[in-house]
Amino acid sequence: MLDADFFRRWMTATAASVDREAERLTALDSPIGDADHGSNLQRGFNAVTAALEKEAPRTPGAVLTLAGRQLISTVGGASGPLYGTLLRRTGKALGEAGEVSEDQFAQALRAGVDAVMTLGGATPGDKTMIDALVPAVDALGDGFTAARAAAEEGALATTPLQARKGRASYLGERSIGHQDPGATSSALLIAGLAEAHGE
Ligand code: ADP
Ligand code: MG
Ligand code: MG
Repeated sequence: MLDADFFRRWMTATAASVDREAERLTALDSPIGDADHGSNLQRGFNAVTAALEKEAPRTPGAVLTLAGRQLISTVGGASGPLYGTLLRRTGKALGEAGEVSEDQFAQALRAGVDAVMTLGGATPGDKTMIDALVPAVDALGDGFTAARAAAEEGALATTPLQARKGRASYLGERSIGHQDPGATSSALLIAGLAEAHGE
């Protein structure tokens, strides 16, 4: 079973890897964006860890809805509302239980990813975070390590794609040949799950 502490560890592990990888995320956002993805997420996940320390939410759902709210209110870029929606919707789907099973979490995360697709209008193949998140959710039934591998593979597979959503889509064919920054940070988010689970 996964308790509030697991979800807190997920957020702190993600915040730490976003800190470590911020320069790389911003560098990926430079040729096909506005070179702020790393700093956007650093600001957002710093706010997440600060809020989790201050408010100490007691259930998995409350941890994720609080984290989602922080991302929405502190990240100016497109990724803030999208990641915020992902975590808020996932948290809402977990309800008020003190512990959830891995299956319940996988279902909730799918609801979260669906909400991101509804909000942003992207589907797999559009060269966005969805290209890492959908394969991760599909693989989650096989465990967190499998989900991490699927997300990393999905992020790498964005390189040859032409962007059809977000800022990179303004470049048309010139977006081809660059890995999507949001898919890359989504792979960090999913890797954080495996880390929080001790894998
Ligand atoms: P901004 O483009 O506003 O500067 P960021 O640089 O923080 O925002 O985030 C860019 C990332 O957000 C992209 O690499 C992409 O993965 C993701 N993204 C942008 N628009 C969408 C969308 N409509 N649906 C899903 N993901 C999107
Ligand atoms: Mg950007
Ligand atoms: Mg921006």
